[in-house]
Amino acid sequence: MLPAFEPLGEERVHLLEASGRYIAREVRAVFDSPPFDNSAMDGYAVRSSEVESAGPGHAVELPVRGESRAGVPLPGPLEPGAACRIFTGAPMPPGADAVVIQEDTERVGDRVKILEASPRSKHVRAQGSDVSRGAVLLRPGDRVGPGEIGLLASQNIDHVEVYRRPEVALLSTGDELRALGEALGPGAIVNSNVYALTEMLRCLGVIPVPLPAAPDSLPEIEAALRKALESDVVITMGGVSVGAYDFVHQAFANVGIEPGFWKVRIKPGKPLAFARFEGKPVVGVPGNPISAMVTFEILVAPCLRKMLGDPRPHPQPVLARLQDSYRRRPGRVEIARAVATREGNEIVVALHDRQGSGSLPSFVGVNALVLLPSDKAELAAGELVEAILWGGGLTSERSPFDSLA
Ligand code: AMP
Ligand code: MG
Repeated sequence: MLPAFEPLGEERVHLLEASGRYIAREVRAVFDSPPFDNSAMDGYAVRSSEVESAGPGHAVELPVRGESRAGVPLPGPLEPGAACRIFTGAPMPPGADAVVIQEDTERVGDRVKILEASPRSKHVRAQGSDVSRGAVLLRPGDRVGPGEIGLLASQNIDHVEVYRRPEVALLSTGDELRALGEALGPGAIVNSNVYALTEMLRCLGVIPVPLPAAPDSLPEIEAALRKALESDVVITMGGVSVGAYDFVHQAFANVGIEPGFWKVRIKPGKPLAFARFEGKPVVGVPGNPISAMVTFEILVAPCLRKMLGDPRPHPQPVLARLQDSYRRRPGRVEIARAVATREGNEIVVALHDRQGSGSLPSFVGVNALVLLPSDKAELAAGELVEAILWGGGLTSERSPFDSLA
């Protein structure tokens, strides 16, 4: 599926709208940072050569001339044989080349005793030492988060070029489906998938376009598909299996959507279909809520991340220990919902009791999807398996900093 998903064009957005987006165009430093030599500590700016001999028992005494503090213009030059009072972030006076920290001095009226030597450049943040003007700060494919926002803000850069966010249409099918809050007559259920998948799309950073559910009728599904194809990607839900009322394949064909593949050897999610309309990706996920969410996370989300500009969109499983033994029918890779916790230096996964594909409570609190290999019928407690951490990742009641308290 991945080759069908390419990043869209770029757009220029404000820094605060760029969070979670991927950089489309290299960003370079506008100026040196720090913009001027400044002190890293509170203390005294000196000429290092004049305090060379300072040490325990033989202080060097200098007159204090002037003061430099953060936020005020550059002080005048440091006169030879003197020290300048200086504070963190304050510009170094010309002529000074080192700072003696306050803790290594003793103030006596308008003079200061230097108790420790301070070699050249000591405690000085040199102009451009962190970022030099013109240096590449961000490259295409870098994801914008708090650190990147801080860096760009420090450079007075308020807009960046990021990849456009694709619009993803969500089209549910089924005579039984009703919108949230609608009266549920006999045989009706709430279209819960469209809400769950809208949220999954929102979390990914794409633009969800939830459409009204289409009933199980060929002409109505076709009309809804034509509407859905106005978006950049189409995801249909339900009606993609082999039942008498599963019209999605026929509707695809009638609208001119070309089949790619149908059915995947995974559980849940076997009937997933992939197709394209004039290059535009169309994915049919099964209607079963667990199948819809799991196939979305495992197969669709990586494609959408690629489309958002992520150069490494694949989920990365970690090794985890199974808490309990598990028996299953081999043949398909099984993707099991689990709660992952950290125990010592390991991740332990407890599979949810109800792995049936219809159980919605089995998604509450899930923070891992465990990949059980297709050829194994029995997995022993303590066996290593691959798990994709999901949602917020690992949680614990203990803090890793407890020992520092
Ligand atoms: P289908 O894939 O259409 O055969 O549907 C499989 C099962 O999932 C059926 O029990 C449907 O009622 C249910 N289902 C289908 N679509 C949705 C949906 N959008 N929200 C909640 N359940 C659904
Ligand atoms: Mg159906």
